[in-house]
Amino acid sequence: MDKRKISNICFILAIVLFAVSMIQDWTKQDSPTTAQQNNVKNIIFIIGDGMGADQMNLVTAPNHFERSHSIGFSKTYSASNRVTDSAAGGTALACGVKTNNGVLGMNADSVPVQSIMQELRQSGLATGEVASCRITHATPAAFYAHQINRGMDAEILSDLYKYGPDVFVAGGNKLLVADSLTQAGYQVTYSLDSMAAIASGKVACILAEEDMPTAPFRGDTIRKGVEQTIRLLEKDEDGFFLFIEGSQIDWAGHGNEGERLRAEMQDINRVIGYCMDYADAHPGTLVFITADHETGGLSLPGEEMSTVFTTGQHSGVMVPFYAYGTGAEQLKGVHENTDFKALLLSLVNR
Ligand SMILES: [Zn+2]
Repeated sequence: MDKRKISNICFILAIVLFAVSMIQDWTKQDSPTTAQQNNVKNIIFIIGDGMGADQMNLVTAPNHFERSHSIGFSKTYSASNRVTDSAAGGTALACGVKTNNGVLGMNADSVPVQSIMQELRQSGLATGEVASCRITHATPAAFYAHQINRGMDAEILSDLYKYGPDVFVAGGNKLLVADSLTQAGYQVTYSLDSMAAIASGKVACILAEEDMPTAPFRGDTIRKGVEQTIRLLEKDEDGFFLFIEGSQIDWAGHGNEGERLRAEMQDINRVIGYCMDYADAHPGTLVFITADHETGGLSLPGEEMSTVFTTGQHSGVMVPFYAYGTGAEQLKGVHENTDFKALLLSLVNR
């Protein structure tokens, strides 16, 4: 090869290398992954228990799910079953591990795993839970308890006293012991009005002996409970993690009760709208909404979109997820339900 050819090849190589390095710099600067990472201060994590895509279609205007900046699908199977239960489904979302049906906050080898709520608390964020069921029920418990079986109420209670959120609004008075809550540092209250008089600190607001009344008979309790909880959590300058569950969407599905399901979906829709408005007013807030599984095998045929159920159990279909606010663009596509813990943590400024 003559010298001229070699110098031409060197020149072309140099241009290619220069172009590659320019492209790398450009993607670094403009990649949303880099630009938006670590900007999230507050996470509001909403689970509609049993809420598949068709359940969302029952919502009448304004449908706040439609405001989402980003959507995708979550694969819900557990370590032991094609069709998950709420304990394994909640554990996958909270702790990022597939586990066996019935297990809370542990992997399939029964090793305890920290939840996203527990990790964020260790980073200094305030934590809260609001649910329309009792606080010891499988889904809220998946965020603080580590037990081999969801039916172990006494052990789950003792985990609540040790690892529970700073503020919670839920049912469960029949099991909860006021003295134990007080010893754990909670101010115990039994109405949202008396909760509103508490200025700061840990609060347990217990609104039912077991589970709350079904929608629409509990009124606007969940949205108001979220409002009161955020009022307390946002006093922490490090930010907050709030878990909200529309618990009884699942129960309406199990019972194949169409009207009850519509009412439960309207209720969670109101809560979602409130949280999205909060995110609008408070940049740095990410609202993430999904389900642990679908319940009822719901279908909506005909002009009436009548509710037709194909099972009284959970189904194994993928469920949608929705994201809104700061960092929402990072949450899209098809994911395992175990992906969200790490994805959300990677967005938080801590
Ligand atoms: Zn269920």
